[in-house]
Amino acid sequence: KVRVRFAPSPTGPLHLGGVRTALYDYLFAKNKGGDFVLRIEDTDTARYVEGAEEYIMEALEWCGIIPDESPKHGGPFAPYRQSERRDIYDKHLAELLKTDYAYLAFDTPEELDEVRNEFEKNGEVFAYNNMTRNRLKNSLTLSKEEVQKLTDEKVPYVVRFKMPVDRVLNLEDIIRGKSSVNTNTLDDKVLVKNDGMPTYHFANIVDDHEMEISHVIRGEEWLPSLGLHYLLYEAMGWEKPEFAHLSLILKPEGKGKLSKRDGDKFGFPVFPLNFKDPETGNISKGYREEGYLPQAFINMVALLGWSPANDREVLTLEEMITEFDLHKVHKAGARFNKEKAEWFNSEYLRSKSDEEVLELLKNVEGINLTNSSDVHLLKIISLMKERAVFAKDIYNDGKFFFEAPTQYDEKAVKKAWNETVAEVMIEFSLKLQDSIFEPEALKQDIHDFAESKGLGMGKVMMPLRLTLVGELKGPDVPDIMQILGKEETIARIKNAVN
Ligand code: GLU
Repeated sequence: KVRVRFAPSPTGPLHLGGVRTALYDYLFAKNKGGDFVLRIEDTDTARYVEGAEEYIMEALEWCGIIPDESPKHGGPFAPYRQSERRDIYDKHLAELLKTDYAYLAFDTPEELDEVRNEFEKNGEVFAYNNMTRNRLKNSLTLSKEEVQKLTDEKVPYVVRFKMPVDRVLNLEDIIRGKSSVNTNTLDDKVLVKNDGMPTYHFANIVDDHEMEISHVIRGEEWLPSLGLHYLLYEAMGWEKPEFAHLSLILKPEGKGKLSKRDGDKFGFPVFPLNFKDPETGNISKGYREEGYLPQAFINMVALLGWSPANDREVLTLEEMITEFDLHKVHKAGARFNKEKAEWFNSEYLRSKSDEEVLELLKNVEGINLTNSSDVHLLKIISLMKERAVFAKDIYNDGKFFFEAPTQYDEKAVKKAWNETVAEVMIEFSLKLQDSIFEPEALKQDIHDFAESKGLGMGKVMMPLRLTLVGELKGPDVPDIMQILGKEETIARIKNAVN
């Protein structure tokens, strides 16, 4: 059975790349009728960030990526938090030590520093590996009695993997194909730290095996660890899962990994939800709070590195599941594009009914619509929806529907207004008393009036817009007039003239 896991470390909020990994994990699992597992890899206590785990769960939920198994949902392989699985790692570690695939290393940080300095003096880089391990303080160089003595005395030690000498490993990746690595280029990675906690490498392999994971789909930063992981599976005598490593999400300009700083620079969030750093109190902006619809967000993320058949762009989560194919995931990095993200949101917003948008608008923080009836709001929405990226734009770009202008844009005034125009407007407002307030009729009235004055249509339309909106922007003037109604339209003209 296909079983895929997303295995974040709670070291901070989930960024765009993390969301995409989770999404591809999920899409692949669901496409194959398999399970999607969320496992929290929290063995690195030094990097643990308060609230990060809750954040990850909430973010996935907002995206609609619901795990079949997780710390919250439980499941047959619980617990799903690595810090609660110590006994399992201990058991398997004993196995590795017995079969001599791992050894204890007693070197203190000072001792390691000393060796490192020595290497650097000679212009070399130190690595704890098959070349150096025989001159260091570990269970391969010490006698059995010495090791026993040290452990009895509770001298701290780490457990390291004994990397084999000069073996070529043939690696396979679903997206990248075949590659190979010589074990002489790899070091004796720490599997268990001196506090008894397993490192990522060890816990990850044990859990993927124990949880019967069939496919590991993760970020390319783990590609250099693949050789070690192959060997760990071999050492344990376990069948390994299949692997796929996803390329980076790149900066908008194309070079380098997308970072939080790019978001600040170009004004877009790199996190799904707002995140308050528990240490600094700083808030990183999230897509949700920015006003993105989760469907639009997830659609945008899905296409960062994957092209569905026929280059389709707008897909529901269900459609993505049906279409998803790891072989169509790109090897090259995907460039983030803010305009594209906004385009997705406007597409999804437009496809919603006016009633649905009304609900969204009412939930926008910081705006008060209690003075407007739903009927009135629905008219505004129907007119403004097409040109909005976010629900809040309908309010912000349509503020003039809610309050008469008290100021007029200076440039617009210069362009559209003078004494004569003011008189023309007064005359027009009198005419409007008999008008039917309906766009086609109003358009005709404006046209007729302009003609009777020997003026071009724009010479009436522009100042009219200025009186109603306060600037020369917005939807068609007759549409605005209809929504404002006769009384308000006339009042605004008079107000502008005075
Ligand atoms: N805990 C690792 C991370 O946060 C998981 C990597 C993997 O999927 O193997 O990136």
